[in-house]
Amino acid sequence: FWDYFNKQMRQEYNEVAYNAWFKNTKPVSYNKETNELVIAVKNPIAKGYWEANLSTKLIQTAYAYGNFEVLPIFEVDGDEPTERFKAPQPPKKVPERSVSPVKDDFVAKNLQLNEKYTFDTFVQGEGNKLAEGAALAVADNPGSFYNPLFIFGGVGLGKTHLMQAIGHQMLGERPNAKVVYIQSETFVNDFINSIKNKTQDEFREKYRTADLLLVDDIQFFAKKEGIQEEFFHTFETLYNDQKQIVMTSDRLPTEIPDLSERLVSRFAWGLQVEITPPDLETRIAILRKKAESEGLVIDDDTLDYIASQVSTNIRELEGALVKVQAHATIEKADINVNLARDALTDLKLVQKSRGLQISKIQEVVANYFQTTVNELKGKKRVRQIVVPRQIAMYLARDLTDASLPKIGQEFGGKDHTTVMHAYEKIEKDIRTDAEIKSAVYELKQLLDR
Ligand code: ADP
Ligand code: MG
Repeated sequence: FWDYFNKQMRQEYNEVAYNAWFKNTKPVSYNKETNELVIAVKNPIAKGYWEANLSTKLIQTAYAYGNFEVLPIFEVDGDEPTERFKAPQPPKKVPERSVSPVKDDFVAKNLQLNEKYTFDTFVQGEGNKLAEGAALAVADNPGSFYNPLFIFGGVGLGKTHLMQAIGHQMLGERPNAKVVYIQSETFVNDFINSIKNKTQDEFREKYRTADLLLVDDIQFFAKKEGIQEEFFHTFETLYNDQKQIVMTSDRLPTEIPDLSERLVSRFAWGLQVEITPPDLETRIAILRKKAESEGLVIDDDTLDYIASQVSTNIRELEGALVKVQAHATIEKADINVNLARDALTDLKLVQKSRGLQISKIQEVVANYFQTTVNELKGKKRVRQIVVPRQIAMYLARDLTDASLPKIGQEFGGKDHTTVMHAYEKIEKDIRTDAEIKSAVYELKQLLDR
């Protein structure tokens, strides 16, 4: 069966991707009673990739092949050198950028990169360590391994930071490398302008000659066929030249509306890695680092307090620190917990709506449609239940930071694809169905209170 599965996958993946994920990956044992199939993979990144992208395929293939069930379990093979992934080596020092003469040179070449977004200033935590490891691997070894690298996750979690860190690292090692960073909206605008101004050759030249292409927030390519076509050719050119491509998005490629099939499949050739919200410990570490770099003296209790007030978005966390700092300046007072509490009172109100629970959404939706939470979590396929259920899933996706699998779990253990389908369905209905549109609108108002 293993050979069969590999053969199947060999047809789906190109050679580089196949080697990255299947070479050095082997079954170790199969337990006939529990159906557990233990598979040894070479490093934690491969483990993450298999879990996210291949375990379903493996299960389905086993079923189709011999009508047997497997429960894949992935183990990192201890014999393989894994240090790089376990503890990413500190990046080679990027040239000192305070007063050194290198500075102007460095900055001039990289107007598009924010000089603060380096590996040095990036704080590692549970939620981002795989992404950081992958980014370091790519920076060390561009174009060979995880190509493309696709980093996804919620707003303000460090996607842009990490992506640009790859750019800085590459330029630190190869100052003449051509690093192109672009917001996907800019790519769209540039493209449209190039058609208007008949400068398409220049447009193509700019992107297709990059050594490293960083495309930020690629979800904006949704539903834009012309752009996708153009990007496809850019992608092909760079990929075939073994140039590294890194993309970020707030969601998986499969969740980007109307993203062409060929882009979806190409984006999966490399590595797709998620950044999830930081835990308290990481938030404190980020604040501490930030405070240090600003020369602020803040005691642990206050750091702890600020970190506990902002839970999901690092940009807001930084904003909270700025607020506290401003408050201290105005009041001419030292920073302590009381001052931080005063400074952040209004923030707390905002956070309340952010901290919306899925259970709350279910309750409000069930009430609104005069059904019950249990029905929403159940399996009934009648329209009176299906529509409220899909709307509740839509709202859970829209108003909370919960991942698709997590939402599925909260709805009686449904598959993440069901949630995704519900989300897309309602998103479409809002545009075409006045009743659904107003229901969603009213529900959002109710939940706002
Ligand atoms: P995204 O692109 O995911 O929306 P950004 O990369 O813009 O998020 O990050 C938002 C802010 O938070 C930036 O100022 C960034 O430097 C900071 N930040 C995010 N993650 C980290 C981290 N792990 N360590 C230090 N700063 C971080
Ligand atoms: Mg960003």
